[in-house]
Amino acid sequence: MQAAVRFAVASGLTLSVRGGGHSFAGLGTNDGGVVIDLRNLAEVEVIDRERGIVHIGGGATWGEVAAGLSPYGLAISSGDTKSVGVGGLTLSGGIGWMVRKYGLALDGVVAARVVTADGELVRADDEENPELYWALRGGGGNFGVVTAFEFRAHRTRDVYFGAIEFPAEEASKILPGWADYLRNAPDELTSIVNFANPFAGGVDAPVQVMVAFAGDDERAAARAIDPIRRLGTVIRDDVTLKAYSDVLVDGGTPPAGIRFVARGAFVEETSVPDVLQILLEVGASERSPFISLRAVGGAASRVAEDATAYAYRQAELMFVTNTAGPEHVVDAARPALNAIWKRLAPHTSGAYANFLTTAAPEDVAAVYPPATHRRLAAVKRHYDPRNVFSGNHNVLPASNTTLE
Ligand SMILES: Cc1cc2nc3c(=O)[nH]c(=O)nc-3n(C[C@H](O)[C@H](O)[C@H](O)COP(=O)(O)OP(=O)(O)OC[C@H]3O[C@@H](n4cnc5c(N)ncnc54)[C@H](O)[C@@H]3O)c2cc1C
Repeated sequence: MQAAVRFAVASGLTLSVRGGGHSFAGLGTNDGGVVIDLRNLAEVEVIDRERGIVHIGGGATWGEVAAGLSPYGLAISSGDTKSVGVGGLTLSGGIGWMVRKYGLALDGVVAARVVTADGELVRADDEENPELYWALRGGGGNFGVVTAFEFRAHRTRDVYFGAIEFPAEEASKILPGWADYLRNAPDELTSIVNFANPFAGGVDAPVQVMVAFAGDDERAAARAIDPIRRLGTVIRDDVTLKAYSDVLVDGGTPPAGIRFVARGAFVEETSVPDVLQILLEVGASERSPFISLRAVGGAASRVAEDATAYAYRQAELMFVTNTAGPEHVVDAARPALNAIWKRLAPHTSGAYANFLTTAAPEDVAAVYPPATHRRLAAVKRHYDPRNVFSGNHNVLPASNTTLE
C-alpha cells in the first residue's frame, strides 16, 4: 500500500481510492489515473472478545463484516446494504439500522491504520495522531488510505425488522405521527419512511415505514413498534426476528445508462413540520422523486458536536430525494427538482456526504460547516499538504494554520 501511494504521487497521476465502490458520486474511480482498489483488504477478526474490539480491513464490505461477526454474537451499527464498503460509509458517517441505539458507524471506530500522502503507515487513535483520528471520523477519504479499522462492536446479534405499510392517502397523518413518535421512542428503535416510490406506484405507492428494533426481547420490541402500527391502516406488516446479518440487502447494479441523482439534507426539530408539509405536497404530485426519511436522533445525537468531523448531531431527520432513469429523463426532471429544493432550503441544514451524487465546492460547504471545515483544513495541511487525496468531498489544505 505504501508503495502504491508513493508510486501514484511520483507519477503525478490522479489518484482514487476504492473501497466498496458504492460512492453515488463515483469518487472511488477515475479515467486515466491510478485507482488503489482495496477489495483484498477484507479481513474481519475479533481481537478482544471481552471488549468487542474487532479488526476490519479497509476494503471489507458490510456484508462481510455482518457475516464475520454474527457467530460471535456481535454486530456493528452500519448501513443497510451488504456490498457497500466499510471505508467509504464509515469515513463520512454511517447511518444504518442501529444508529439510534449505537450511533453512527464512525462512532464505533476506536483506531485506524492509515497510509498518508508521504507513504508512511501511521496509527490514529485517541493517543497517536489524535487530530487525524478526529478528522477520519467524518472527513471522508481526505487524509489517506485506511488499510484497517478497529471498531468496538455491539452485543446485538438479532433484531426485530421489517416493513409496515399504510395507504398513500394516509401519508399526511403517518409522516407527522411517525416523526413525533420517533422523537422520544426508545433508542433500540431505528426507522426509515419511504414514500412516493416510482417503482411501487408513485403517488399511489404505500407509505412504507421500515423498523429495526435492536434486540430479541419480543415484548420490548412490540412496545416500541406498536405505536407505529397505530398510526393508520396497516396494509402490510412483515416485522419479524432476524439475525442482523440477514437484514442487510444485496446492492443491485443499475442497468447501463441509468443515471441517479440523490440530494439530501438534515432537519432540526423546529423545522420538521415545515419540511414534512413540503415533502407531502411533493410526494402527492405526479413525477415526484422517491423520498426517504431517516430518524437520526438517539445515541448519534448524544455525541458532542465537535467530537468527530461529522457535524450534524442535532438533526432529528435526514432525508433524501432520489431521481433515477435514462439521462434525458433525469435532465427533464432537474428543473422540478431544483424548485423542490428551493422550497426546502430555508428549513434544512447541511448535507450528508454519503448520499450526494455531486462533490462540488457547494456540496463540501454543505457537508462541513465552517468550524468543522477549518479544523479539517488544518489537519489536511499537516497530513496531505499537496492534496494527493482529492477524490472525495475535498477539503483543501489550509494555507496558514498548523496543527496544535
Ligand atoms: C445501495 C447503496 C446503499 C447505501 N446505504 C447506505 C446506508 O444505509 N447508510 C449510509 O450511511 N450510507 C449508505 N450508502 C451510501 C454509502 O455510505 C456511500 O456511497 C459510501 O461512499 C460507499 O462507500 P464505498 O467504500 O462502498 O465506496 P467507494 O466508492 O469505494 O468510496 C467512497 C469514498 O470513500 C473513499 N474510501 C473508501 N474506502 C476508503 C479507505 N479504506 N480509505 C480511504 N478512503 C476510502 C473513496 O476514496 C471515496 O472517496 C449506500 C449507498 C448505496 C449505493
